[in-house]
Amino acid sequence: METIVVEIDPLNIEESKIKEAANAIKEDKTVVFPTETVYGLGANGLSENAVKKIFDAKGRPYDNPLILHVADVRSFLEYTYISYTLLEKVERLLPGPVTFVLKKKEIVPNIVTAGKDTVAVRMPAHPVALKLIKFAGVPIAAPSANISGKPSPTLSEHVLKDMYGKVDYIIIGGLVQFGIESTVIDLTQGKVPIILRPGPIPPEKLKEIFGDIFIPEFAYGRTEADYVKSPGMKYRHYAPNTPLILVEQSHFDLMINKVLEESKNYHNPIILCLKEHANYFKKYGVNFDIIGSEENYYEFAVKLFEMLRKYDEKVDAMIVEGIEDRGIGIAVMNRLRKAACKIL
Ligand code: AMP
Ligand code: MG
Repeated sequence: METIVVEIDPLNIEESKIKEAANAIKEDKTVVFPTETVYGLGANGLSENAVKKIFDAKGRPYDNPLILHVADVRSFLEYTYISYTLLEKVERLLPGPVTFVLKKKEIVPNIVTAGKDTVAVRMPAHPVALKLIKFAGVPIAAPSANISGKPSPTLSEHVLKDMYGKVDYIIIGGLVQFGIESTVIDLTQGKVPIILRPGPIPPEKLKEIFGDIFIPEFAYGRTEADYVKSPGMKYRHYAPNTPLILVEQSHFDLMINKVLEESKNYHNPIILCLKEHANYFKKYGVNFDIIGSEENYYEFAVKLFEMLRKYDEKVDAMIVEGIEDRGIGIAVMNRLRKAACKIL
């Protein structure tokens, strides 16, 4: 398949380029576009024919529902049965890296929701994404723009590697802001919202708006998900070919010891460590790279998938140092625990 690749500077947007991509959406074609979380692979979310192409390009199982991306608050009323009281709360987080699961209206095709009577809706904060949706005039169904099972793409080279030749259009649009997928919150299970997938919007922020929030154990990535509520979670989002060993955050010396002991089991491991520990690994002469720091969990999140893609199949083990389950750290640890074959 011929793929058109265009570059758009989010700080100096050439609207004509976005209009061309929006026309492709109108013609039921597939368009990869940047968002503030990760790159998305989009198509007309009201067209069964178009949405089918997303599943085909990714090799995504049909029972894993997609997120409908919208460009305004009004769209929540158009595609879901949301009450005005709830919409007032939801609105406070829009646009942003958070997805709301709500009862769907008839107009949303079953292929988008994997036959469920609920639909996941998100209004992204990226200017290119917002304009693309606006110009297309339809909601855009979009999962992450990676081959199913690979880490979500955060750099242009990731989308080109995974999607070139498989989609009609690729928009390259600068750096992603967060680097991990949106927080998914279910608003259909009684009064208390449930976090189905932790993401850039942390529970503390959600509590401020919704009051009580339920964080199931599977949101931490420690146990299997309840597949009925969180259908996508039964697929390991990322299972590297190289074994990934996760060392949970603990006392400084204990952590470094565990990492060094574990590294002796392999011929050519890489240690993906915290900035604060780098000097120690340097001293021991082991192969390491800095994945993030204890100081800024957002930096860790934004580099996470990039580092995992960089070293998968290049070493015989990735030993990763973890962070605490707080703020965006919950989302980082969820992804790492699910990718790990061993947790220490
Ligand atoms: P992805 O597009 O790969 O970032 O994944 C979308 C996520 O949203 C998946 O984990 C799905 O389980 C979740 N999701 C989408 N639609 C629904 C829905 N109707 N109910 C519950 N979760 C959903
Ligand atoms: Mg995905």
